[in-house]
Amino acid sequence: MIKLNENYANLQDSYLFSTIARKVANFQEKNPDKKVIKLGIGDVTLPIVPKVIEAIHKATDEMAKKETFRGYGPEQGYDFLREKIVEWDYQKRGISITKEEIFVSDGAKCDTANIQELFSKDNIIAITDPVYPVYLDTNVMAGRSGLFCEKTSKYEKVVYLPSTAENAFDPALPTQKVDMIYLCFPNNPTGTVLNKEQLQKWVNYARENHAIILFDSAYEAFISEENVPHSIYEIEGAKEVAIEFRSFSKTAGFTGIRCAYTVVPKKLKVDTLSLNALWNRRQCTKFNGVPYITQRAAEAVYTKEGQKQVKENIAYYMENAKLIREGLEEAGYTVYGGINAPYIWLKVPDGMTSWDFFDYLLEEKNVVGTPGSGFGPSGEGYFRLTAFGSRENTIEAINRMKENN
Ligand code: PLP
Repeated sequence: MIKLNENYANLQDSYLFSTIARKVANFQEKNPDKKVIKLGIGDVTLPIVPKVIEAIHKATDEMAKKETFRGYGPEQGYDFLREKIVEWDYQKRGISITKEEIFVSDGAKCDTANIQELFSKDNIIAITDPVYPVYLDTNVMAGRSGLFCEKTSKYEKVVYLPSTAENAFDPALPTQKVDMIYLCFPNNPTGTVLNKEQLQKWVNYARENHAIILFDSAYEAFISEENVPHSIYEIEGAKEVAIEFRSFSKTAGFTGIRCAYTVVPKKLKVDTLSLNALWNRRQCTKFNGVPYITQRAAEAVYTKEGQKQVKENIAYYMENAKLIREGLEEAGYTVYGGINAPYIWLKVPDGMTSWDFFDYLLEEKNVVGTPGSGFGPSGEGYFRLTAFGSRENTIEAINRMKENN
């Protein structure tokens, strides 16, 4: 008889966003006249910038002509895009990465999930807590997590690295040996960052313990402060121990277009095996590349006009973040993030859980956010608001939260 992958039975229901949707739908049904403002979802809302649209039209027309039509492209991505990535995202920052180290893909979500295929099931994984849920769930699917404990809300074999106000969102190094460390900075959900010295500590740990860092910098474009690394490769010695994930999703509003890339340095080896060669093998076997039109769209981001336009969109979101941060502080809340990331992480009032605060905000202020506990046990007592809404809705939501607070 056919047997299923029993690890799937060990997955916890991803009930966070479905519970939110259900609660909001119930509320709207009972209160059809109330305008509910949603600042919960981490998706962009501004349209694709003109320079990218122009490239999409041009590439589409090329596909309509026999002479310029393209079929399957290189699994790793077209050179025209890989070269632009190297130049704009690395060389301009003084980092030497070659195009052979870049793998263009259809999303950082799939890449951060798929990469764990290269590693044995016996490895111990470490995740920051709270965390972007994909890192954890994909390792559960692979049988690397051990069983889930209802009492602690943790998987028994996973090493959780609490990241809270108590440690200034700078998680301590694990006290037990770990093999695969997921780091995401600027962080989703906390919106916080680590500086160079703080990241150096992780690179040193990985080098000393023969561990690997899986560094997700999907929000790199939102960094506004100096001394906050845009890439893990700004850290000395990182090329021997880190894989980096980047995405056009939040940088250029590509959540619906789908384009990202992963950097696997040639220097990165486990024993004598090159991870670059392994990832290349995996991609060539299981992936047939990102559409030509999409890659031309991504290429257009790396032009003077394209940069100006995507930066204007980011500035719009970050102005929202500032309004949320300052408005909430005025209302007496303690807030984190929102300076180098489009996420604001607020401390819920004493005596309330993250879900209590969700209910309060929905029912009293008709504003929707995301309860911190949905991102991991250390997210309890916190709440996430995103800066991706419209200016008008952001201002209205914050005014409501300030009223009679
Ligand atoms: N990594 C982080 C930390 C994210 O928050 C997200 C999306 O919300 C992703 C990756 C997904 O990126 P992509 O749209 O490229 O799959």
